[in-house]
Amino acid sequence: PYDLLIVGGGPSGAAAAIYAARKGIRTGVVAERFGGQVMDTLAIENFISVKETDGAKLARSLEEHVKSYEVDIINNQRASRLSQDDLFHVELASGATLRSKAILIATGARWREMNVNGEQQYRGRGVAYCPHCDGPLFKGKAVAVIGGGNSGVEAAIDLAGIVSHVTLLEFDSKLRADAVLQKKLYSLPNVTVITSALTTEVHGDGQKMTGLSYTNRLTNESHHLAVAGVFVQIGLLPNTDWLKDTLNLTNRGEIEVNSRGETSMAGVFAAGDVTTAPFKQIIIAMGEGAKASLAAFDYLIRQGA
Ligand code: FAD
Repeated sequence: PYDLLIVGGGPSGAAAAIYAARKGIRTGVVAERFGGQVMDTLAIENFISVKETDGAKLARSLEEHVKSYEVDIINNQRASRLSQDDLFHVELASGATLRSKAILIATGARWREMNVNGEQQYRGRGVAYCPHCDGPLFKGKAVAVIGGGNSGVEAAIDLAGIVSHVTLLEFDSKLRADAVLQKKLYSLPNVTVITSALTTEVHGDGQKMTGLSYTNRLTNESHHLAVAGVFVQIGLLPNTDWLKDTLNLTNRGEIEVNSRGETSMAGVFAAGDVTTAPFKQIIIAMGEGAKASLAAFDYLIRQGA
């Protein structure tokens, strides 16, 4: 068996693997797709000490760095169940089972998409999901935000300080964000809020996004909005379907962790976007992965492993 089996090969899992391997313990990483969300990212400008990189490059460096240590990488395999007897067992969709003395879950999350025409075509060329990441790319331009929950309204407030104008579109007849956020939003001069709006299409010129269409659900009228970008803020879905009934999850499906990355099950740790740790970013996922890995090592030496 492994001493530490890491499930997930994004920034968080990679950092955890390196920290574990450097302790000389038997470490494995099983991942559906090594690199994780970074593989879907174009420009990265906030990975501190690297002024500018892109997702493919960063994913390659992650893999190279992990491979420079004695770590078993099991790629293109999806974990489907976690169970425990005297060891932990991770069942894979392929039918195989991996066994380990401790587990670190770093299966990340994915952004909920609008599922409208043009969304995929202009992804990364106007269609964005992360204001901390891509906000500055739209400096001085007009953008839209989809979603009037806390993350949508936070994104609109954040973007209003960078871009020329923000239009926030909410499907419901009212915003769902906390009152204090709504108050701040409505105080901003360069923000327009449109409720009862169903986004129907993202338009572009073939190269980049130029606008979007939405339907007013009360009048059924269709409208066009000229914007250079749209930030889709309708939910981040943690990859925890396979863990239901095993670990304590929040109602949004995030794994509950404490400041050491410990979950509700002794010996099972979690880190990165899949957890309750706030702010989903590469540098944060890496830090959390390193931290949870050290906590797992601490657990193992106390078990006498
Ligand atoms: P992930 O990167 O999601 O990795 C999860 C890993 O788990 C993957 O290897 C996946 O295949 C694997 N996995 C999932 N389920 C299973 C399973 N059941 N079994 C086995 N393996 C599984 N952040 C920034 O800091 N700067 C940016 O500029 C930036 N831009 C972004 C742009 C886009 C388009 C997106 C989508 C995200 C961006 N982010 C950015 C966010 C950043 O990518 C994430 O915060 C970070 O990747 C989280 O790392 P993670 O390791 O927790 O999870």
